[in-house]
Amino acid sequence: MKTDVKALVVGGGAVGTSIAYHLAKAGWSDVMLLERDELTSGSTWHAAGLLPYFNMSYATTHIHDYSIKFYKTLEEETGLNAGFSVVGNLRMAQTQARMDEYELYATTADTCGVPYEFMTPAQIKERWPLVNTDDLLGALYHPTDGYINPADVTMAMAKGARQRGVMIERKWQVDGYEWKGDHWEVTVTKTAEKGGNLISTDETVVIKAEHVVTATGNHAQRTAKLLGIKTPAIPVEHQFIVTEPDPALVEYRKAGNPEHPVLRDADAKWYVREERGGWILGPYELGAPACFKYGVPDSFRADLFPLDLERIEEEYMSMIHRIPTSETVGLKDDFNGPICYTPDGNPLIGPAPGLRNMWLAEGFSFGITAAGGAGYYLAQLMTEGEAEIDMGSLDPKRYGQDWMTTDYAVAKNEEAYEHVYILHHPDEERPRARPLRTAPAYERQKALGAQFGCVNGWERPNYYGPLDADDNFDHDARSFRRGGWWQYAMEEAKAIREGVGIIDASAFAKHVVKGPGATAFLDHLTCNKLPKVGRINLTYALSVKGTTRTEYTIVRLAEDEYYLVSAGALHAYDEDFLLKAAEDFGFDQGYFHIQDVTTQWAVYAVAGPKSRDLLNELVRDAEPETVLSNKRFPWLSMRNIELGMCPVRAIRVAYTGELGWELHVPVEMGLYLWDQLMAAGEKHGLKPVGTRAQNWLRQEKSYRAYGHELGRDATPMEADLPRFIDLSKDFAGKAAMEATGVRSKCVTVLIDGPEDADPWGREALFDGETRVGRLTSGGYSVAFGKSIGMGYVKPEQAVAGTKLKVKMQGKLWDAEVTEDSPYDPTNAKIRIDG
Ligand SMILES: Cc1cc2nc3c(=O)[nH]c(=O)nc-3n(C[C@H](O)[C@H](O)[C@H](O)COP(=O)(O)OP(=O)(O)OC[C@H]3O[C@@H](n4cnc5c(N)ncnc54)[C@H](O)[C@@H]3O)c2cc1C
Repeated sequence: MKTDVKALVVGGGAVGTSIAYHLAKAGWSDVMLLERDELTSGSTWHAAGLLPYFNMSYATTHIHDYSIKFYKTLEEETGLNAGFSVVGNLRMAQTQARMDEYELYATTADTCGVPYEFMTPAQIKERWPLVNTDDLLGALYHPTDGYINPADVTMAMAKGARQRGVMIERKWQVDGYEWKGDHWEVTVTKTAEKGGNLISTDETVVIKAEHVVTATGNHAQRTAKLLGIKTPAIPVEHQFIVTEPDPALVEYRKAGNPEHPVLRDADAKWYVREERGGWILGPYELGAPACFKYGVPDSFRADLFPLDLERIEEEYMSMIHRIPTSETVGLKDDFNGPICYTPDGNPLIGPAPGLRNMWLAEGFSFGITAAGGAGYYLAQLMTEGEAEIDMGSLDPKRYGQDWMTTDYAVAKNEEAYEHVYILHHPDEERPRARPLRTAPAYERQKALGAQFGCVNGWERPNYYGPLDADDNFDHDARSFRRGGWWQYAMEEAKAIREGVGIIDASAFAKHVVKGPGATAFLDHLTCNKLPKVGRINLTYALSVKGTTRTEYTIVRLAEDEYYLVSAGALHAYDEDFLLKAAEDFGFDQGYFHIQDVTTQWAVYAVAGPKSRDLLNELVRDAEPETVLSNKRFPWLSMRNIELGMCPVRAIRVAYTGELGWELHVPVEMGLYLWDQLMAAGEKHGLKPVGTRAQNWLRQEKSYRAYGHELGRDATPMEADLPRFIDLSKDFAGKAAMEATGVRSKCVTVLIDGPEDADPWGREALFDGETRVGRLTSGGYSVAFGKSIGMGYVKPEQAVAGTKLKVKMQGKLWDAEVTEDSPYDPTNAKIRIDG
């Protein structure tokens, strides 16, 4: 066995095999794959092999799309038939809300070029008469997907990988990883069969690998332990049953009819497909337990759990309702196996936290569907430094290392399993493991009717509902159109435009970079000029491809001390980047250190034309009447002030585009200051405001948001932010950004949409009938009284006045590109003196 390789892939399931294949295809030689048992002996062998396109995430849709296309090419390349049955997928709807969900999905599918069609109950009945359509409103049909044989596709990828030079070694288990500064030393042990068990032998080898990828499926917890990191990838039991042949189905097929598509009754929470004249039923039932939370026992190999029929009785009965002929057929077989999950149901793909050249590909719950694309895009990340699509939403560091625990992962993973077939409302908030991370004023906000969202474990008010709301208020307020919360968000947005509002932004990620080398480091890392002492700049750190890796608000506290504020959702993701960038930069130009101060500061954004009047009531100063004036406290500056007894790092910025201050306060005084502000605010009409209103308001100012307009698939030039890029200096990623040019450009659009709905920021944009771009944000504008959105179009369309169409609810609606910042384009309101 070779002991010195470029890349070592650990795990020979569908995912690891695809990664090894794609690394070789991307041009890396010396790729080795190790499997502790046999290829496919993890979850892969017992998967049902369905390859559904349907997914509400942009990145995951691309991954699935790649897989489906790639698997169709494997036979030609390897001579092995992967058993791809392109029977299509029929996703049925019993309710209007479900049809709305499909319409929203469809516009996302448009943006990814995924083919689909809608069908009426009559069309379904005509083509598939065994399906009871009595209570259906319609269905979404994907003609080009279907199901595959999971073991065969893995073997085909393995053969393709070997043909490209990949070494695949079975019966070798990785038992230890050690980073040596520029490579990993990986200790592996030979395993052997003994009495049906897999045991470790005394034979060990150390393999030197420049890069390591772990794709260890249900063993992710052991892998994490060996690496000294945390991961929320923990399996949940999933079962499917196989029936005896259904005579009606056999007859139907004998008559020359084609195979049924994979049927999904989403409202009944199951999939069904044909299997040798019978049916496979796969339910996503309530109560499926997590398993192996501290690792897989040695005794568990390619094993299964006993069937729990009681748990899936409801789904079984609903299959009989949907396919009445299945009532009389008996059960032939059952599978109950571990299926790895993560709290949001999406895999963890990307660099491991805190480690170099260590890549994770763990937590795959639709791993057969995702394997092809995951391998393709991860190989791009590894070989080129970035992928064509923004992989940020799948990055392993979206779950912070500091706060995430086993109990959290178990609760959320079981929830993610149960939620596979829920209505995927864009305004959904999942209830489990909450509240967990709360800001100081949490209880006060709750008493004011706050309906919380959860970001990175933090509770943040989304909006303030009625005071007498019951526990289900927010649940019932969700919709694919304007939900029951819309009115509240609109009143909050108006309060900021006309009076004064307060937003809790305590979840912001906050880091201090300090020391003689801090300026040189940040100047190199970010593309804007660094601010002067006491001033603030908005700036971007770029990826190696020149795209936007992170957005920072940088406050210069002292000559060599900076306070960096970035998105709360991305705390660990940003921190890992910052620490690695600092290490790469080195300390030749002076020592500096980076301190995470996120949980030391609570943050309130106070904004609106009356915000100065309100703060003037509380500010203590020798000359209190002028401390908040433009002269002493200009826009984009920072001052340490006192509000009552609270010391405040006040920053004159407002993400809502109104006069305002961000008040950063010691977390232990957060409650005190909240109370002071609320009491003083009473006579000014101070209104607590949630993130939904804030999200609408920032679009009126064309303020880009990370994860929406800003990400690793667009440069800051493409985000149309030249005013924040100092081309006169050198900065990381500059050459790549310039070489990329402007492929598409960020715009703001005002939309004459439907009366009862706004875009969500995932809709396709059209010029006439031609798709020309997509929205990345959406909402309602109180200033213009209509829907608003931000997104990307071809540069030639990114001109104020260009008429476009937005696809919503299956129809095209008029939209017009606005100038940047359609509300208060000269920033007069933000700069107003007083
Ligand atoms: C009943 C059931 C039905 C399913 N149906 C579908 C479906 O229809 N469609 C779909 O897309 N998905 C389905 N899935 C999910 C799918 O099976 C998994 O997502 C997929 O198999 C994950 O592949 P993987 O390569 O990540 O993990 P695995 O297949 O589990 O592979 C991981 C491999 O890593 C090896 N390994 C672990 N640790 C080490 C180590 N230290 N050293 C060496 N090797 C190691 C293991 O032996 C294993 O072979 C189903 C799952 C279940 C349980």
